[in-house]
Amino acid sequence: MKGSYIEEVKERAQELAEAVHTKSGGNAILLPVTKGFGVGEVQAMLEVGLTKVGESYAQEMLEKAEIITDDRLAWHMIGRIQRNKVRKLSETVDLWHSVDREELITEISKHKSDSKILIQVDMNDRYEQGGCSPENVPNLIEFASDIGVKVEGLMTIGVDQDIEATRNIFSELAKLSKRMGLKEISMGMSNDFEIAIDYGATILRVGRSIFGERAKK
Ligand SMILES: *Cc1c(COP(=O)(O)O)cnc(C)c1O
Repeated sequence: MKGSYIEEVKERAQELAEAVHTKSGGNAILLPVTKGFGVGEVQAMLEVGLTKVGESYAQEMLEKAEIITDDRLAWHMIGRIQRNKVRKLSETVDLWHSVDREELITEISKHKSDSKILIQVDMNDRYEQGGCSPENVPNLIEFASDIGVKVEGLMTIGVDQDIEATRNIFSELAKLSKRMGLKEISMGMSNDFEIAIDYGATILRVGRSIFGERAKK
């Protein structure tokens, strides 16, 4: 049906994915964030060839994953992780973005020893969205590697409404990632993904720019 919401969403996602590819020189991918939206939106992403999607809430991810069982789909957990949810999530999650402490790494490895993770870093210690301090990153990498968990990269969140602070954070995270010899840099959301590309992001977590505003919880 032309002009329908789902058609628009598919078009926007496709255009954005192409723009990201071009602007990053093939370095970055678009990760559609479907939290707050339904399985129709996830299905739509598959139909335009975007096989990785991000979710923030354990229960919501599990409910959707139960309905859409397409093997091509890879679920990324981008929200704060509670240790007691790890067991249930471990069969579904392909990449954990927001790992910020040893006990989580231990728990994740218990259920799947070669799990892939990103370490979430709080670059300026200013807000309550999780993340370890930059100083703690080497320890966590070593801790994970010792037990076989694969640290693929780092993840961070910019500062809402503050472009200068966000630039600083993205730039510092990219440097840290490089120093650590890591491949993935997950940063940038609807408000700041263009800045993130400039600083070398490899995974852009974008929800509203594709799907529109989420209903308030
Ligand atoms: C919700 C969320 C996003 C996507 O945010 P939008 O503003 O919808 O693009 C990205 N990253 C994290 C960690 C989120 O919680």
